[in-house]
Amino acid sequence: MMNYKNLINGRFVPATGNGTMKVMNPSDGQPICMVPDSTAADVETAVEAATVAQKEWARRPAIQRAKVLHAIADKVRGQVEQLARVITEEQGKTLGLARVEVIFTADYIDYMAEWARRVEGEIIPSDRPGETILFFRQPIGVVGGILPWNFPFFLIARKMAPALVTGNTIVIKPSRETPHNAAKFSELIAGTDLPPGVVNFVHGRGSVVGDALASNSHVGLISLTGSVETGIRIMTTAAKNVTKVNLELGGKAPGIVMGDADMKLAVTAVKASRVINSGQVCNCCERVYVQDKVAEEFTDKLTAAMKASKVGDPNLDETVDYGPMINEGACRRIDEMVHNAEKEGATVVTGGKRAPSKGGFYYEPTVITDCKQTSEIIQKEIFGPVIPIVKFHDLDEAIGMANDSEYGLTSSIYTKDLNVALRACHELKFGETYINRENFEAMQGFHAGVRKSGIGGADGKHGLYEFTQSHIVYIQS
Ligand code: NAD
Repeated sequence: MMNYKNLINGRFVPATGNGTMKVMNPSDGQPICMVPDSTAADVETAVEAATVAQKEWARRPAIQRAKVLHAIADKVRGQVEQLARVITEEQGKTLGLARVEVIFTADYIDYMAEWARRVEGEIIPSDRPGETILFFRQPIGVVGGILPWNFPFFLIARKMAPALVTGNTIVIKPSRETPHNAAKFSELIAGTDLPPGVVNFVHGRGSVVGDALASNSHVGLISLTGSVETGIRIMTTAAKNVTKVNLELGGKAPGIVMGDADMKLAVTAVKASRVINSGQVCNCCERVYVQDKVAEEFTDKLTAAMKASKVGDPNLDETVDYGPMINEGACRRIDEMVHNAEKEGATVVTGGKRAPSKGGFYYEPTVITDCKQTSEIIQKEIFGPVIPIVKFHDLDEAIGMANDSEYGLTSSIYTKDLNVALRACHELKFGETYINRENFEAMQGFHAGVRKSGIGGADGKHGLYEFTQSHIVYIQS
C-alpha cells in the first residue's frame, strides 16, 4: 500500500516519529493508502519554511506568481481522469461529479491567477498641503488552510490560489478522511516552478495538526472550511494570538416553494440538491417549506423523484446518482436524526434507513413530512440524502421559519412572482439566495455565511481580499 509523505519546504518527508494513518474507501470500507499522522513539530517546521519563503515570493511581481498558478492549473487539467478516480475512491462522490470538481479546480486557479494585474491600491485625498495618502493591499504572510472532506480537491485551490496570487505562502492541512487527492496534488506541484516552502502540506488529525496551525503565532490567517464546532474551536485557539480567521462553516439551507412555483423546476432542483455528493454539500437545500395549496403535489412528485435515485458504488458504476456517506459515523448520525424526527411525530414517506452494502456506508433517499420547526431535523445540519418538509400558509410565515436558524449560509425560493422574489431577496437573512435555480455558487460570486455559518467568505474579488491586509502610508513632501 502506498505510504505518502508531507510536503514541507519542497521536500517529501514523513511525520516526526514516523506515525501514519490509513485512508479508507467509504464505498466498501477497504483501505486505500497511508498518510503521515503528523505532530505539532511538523507544523512548526512547515510554518517556518513558509515564513522564510514568503519574503521572496511576495517580492515577485504578481504576474510572475500568476504564471506558476497557471502552470499548476494546466497540470491539473492534464490529469482529470486520474485525479477524479482518486477523489471518488476516498470520498465516495460520483465519477461525473469528481471530474467536474477537478476541472472546476483548474478553472478556479486560473481565475484567481487572473487577478494578478487587478489587485489595486488607492490614493486618498489629504487634508494637508503637500501630503500624499497611499492605501496598499498587501499579503498577510503565512496562511493556514484547513480543509473539509466533501470537496477536498477544490478546497485546496480555494485556499491556495487567492493566497498565492496576493503574495502569501500557505500550509495546508487536508481532512484526514480525504488526504489522498492532496497527496497527489503535492506530487503535481512538486514538478512545477513553485519555490520550496510556498505551498506545504501537513497531513494529520484536526486536534493535533489543525490545532497547531491555529495556535501558531507566525500564521497570519487561518482559513477553515468545516463544521461550526470546529470553527468555534479554531476561533478560540486563534484568539490567543489575535490571528485573523476566515471561517466557511455549515449550512441548513431552506428552500421555499411558493404556490405559483414552476413545480418541475422546484422538484428537480431540490432533488438534485439532496443527492449531489450524497447530500453532503454545505450550500444545498436541507429543509423545504412548501405552500399548503401545493404541498401534496410537491411532496408526491419529490418523493417519486427521490425514490428513482440510483444508489451504489460510484467506483464500479458510473450511472449511480449518489454513493456512500463519508463514514460509518455520518451514516449512524443521519439515521438517528431521522428516527428522532419520527418519534416527534414526523412521517417518513420514503427511505428512512441505511441501504444494504458489503462494508460501505449508504443511506436511502429519504423524504419526511409533518416535521416540526423546532425539531432537530429542521434545526441541525443533516448532511445526507434526507429532505424534511414543512408546510406554510403565507410568505411571512415561510420567511420567518427560514430565518429561524442558527445557520445562515444559503437559501432558495421558487416563485414566478417578481414581487415575492424581491421580498425574499430583502428579507431572507442568509449570505446567499438562489431564486429559481439549483444551489451552486459561481467562482466570481462571494460565498459567505452569516450567523454560525461563518466569518468572511470565499470567491470573487471579495474572497480574494480576505487574503490581503491594508497598509496605509502618509507621505509629507
Ligand atoms: P470538520 O469540522 O469535522 O473538519 C474540518 C477540518 O477541520 C478537518 O481538516 C479537521 O481535521 C479539522 N479540525 C478538526 N478539529 C480541529 C481543531 N480542533 N483544530 C483545528 N482543526 C480541526 O468538518 P468536515 O466534517 O470535514 O466537513 C463537513 C462540514 O464542513 C459541514 O459542516 C459542511 O457544511 C462544512 N462545509 C462548509 C463549506 C462552506 O463553504 N461553508 C464547504 C464545505 C463544507
